[in-house]
Amino acid sequence: MSLWCENCDRAVESETCDVCGLEIAGVVRQPIPFRWRFFIFASVVYLAWRVYQLITWLT
Ligand SMILES: [Zn+2]
Repeated sequence: MSLWCENCDRAVESETCDVCGLEIAGVVRQPIPFRWRFFIFASVVYLAWRVYQLITWLT
């Protein structure tokens, strides 16, 4: 798992950002934001609906 530099908005492989020199060690990653969970949930519901439509169209 790579770390993320908030300063440069890029993934950093080491514990210190090699662009701005920011210490990234110890920074806890934020959990998945609620809107992303909602977006994933909406995508699953949409795909399920499309599969349902395909099955009803085939039969
Ligand atoms: Zn940086």
